[in-house]
Amino acid sequence: MNDHRKLGRELAIFGTDPLIGSGLPYLLPAGAAVRKAVEDYVHELERRNGYQHVNSPVLGKQELYELSGHWSHYSEDMFPPMEVGGERFVLRPSLCPHHALIYRSRRRSHRELPLRLAELGGQYRSEMSGVLGGLNRVRSIQLNDGHVFCPPERAADEVAAALDLIEAAHAQLGIKAARYRLSLGGSSDKFVDDPALWASSERVLREVLHARGRSYDEEYGEAAFYGPKIDIQIADPAGRESTLSTVQVDLYMPGRFELSYVGGGRPAMVHRSVVGGMERLLSHLVEAHGGALPAWLAPVQAVVVPLSEAELPAAHDLVRRCVEAGLRAELAHPDRGSLGARIRAHRLVPYQLVVGPREAADGSCAVRRRDGGQEGNVPVAELAARSRPIF
Ligand SMILES: [Zn+2]
Repeated sequence: MNDHRKLGRELAIFGTDPLIGSGLPYLLPAGAAVRKAVEDYVHELERRNGYQHVNSPVLGKQELYELSGHWSHYSEDMFPPMEVGGERFVLRPSLCPHHALIYRSRRRSHRELPLRLAELGGQYRSEMSGVLGGLNRVRSIQLNDGHVFCPPERAADEVAAALDLIEAAHAQLGIKAARYRLSLGGSSDKFVDDPALWASSERVLREVLHARGRSYDEEYGEAAFYGPKIDIQIADPAGRESTLSTVQVDLYMPGRFELSYVGGGRPAMVHRSVVGGMERLLSHLVEAHGGALPAWLAPVQAVVVPLSEAELPAAHDLVRRCVEAGLRAELAHPDRGSLGARIRAHRLVPYQLVVGPREAADGSCAVRRRDGGQEGNVPVAELAARSRPIF
């Protein structure tokens, strides 16, 4: 069973502590290494596709969420306000309001649009402790988020571009979507009551899905409070579904924040997440790959295995050269068992670099892949090149 909690222990990905609280896992060095590899990849992918990155605080005043509409439609899922100096602050339930304020922080011209802002930032959800577990359902989420501000007639192009990014990232990460879901609103007070606005947003999403020839299911009651979404669903090994990536067309918040641009009217806001929250993504990656993450994501990419104590100096030198070439590398010390035992203990590491007397003498190594394939001597620079994502 590829349960991420079991594999997470073997790989030492994450941990929890009752003193921190349930739904608040921390990442151990291996988990932090995988997350950093994903972050760097997504940051670069976004940069190449016209995004500008911003950083904003994880809290804001209650008035901000009254303005955004969260307070009246979403407050059940929010942490209660904290009072400081006569003002009330809440942990943010999403990044959108901060990004809307960044848009509004100066006059925008139509020539600046589409303005694509992205951020990897914290958002918080007051889930009940009964539903929390592992990395999949948490109270503190590090979200890969982004908002595209564009003229409403450009929204379809931006939705399509966001789906292109999502599909490229999924291919690079080795993620297979279970299905695409068009998540629609409903007649509950969870959703903003403005039928014309919902119809316009929905039309854009359907148009893009049809143009791509994408099959999808429709579900009522799964939208964001401000508008419909295309959700890309993933499934765990037991078939339980959750949403990873999403694209949404929002014509509501731009009005609430009175966003505008010179030479035009009100922009549309396309909310999108390419790979979702880091916690859910990590748990899914570990499960989907059975712990054997692609080389560019693996917490340890190369393990140096000297035959005996005699090869230790050469092995240390090889680890250092790997690290300097950008690889995450470590040593499997001879006092940790036989060669076979040490190779088995590192069965999930993509490259096992065996150093015997001959390799120690000429500074080389005998490369063994985790699938058992033998490659002989491969230069460190070549291993490093194979361990980078492709754009
Ligand atoms: Zn948003």
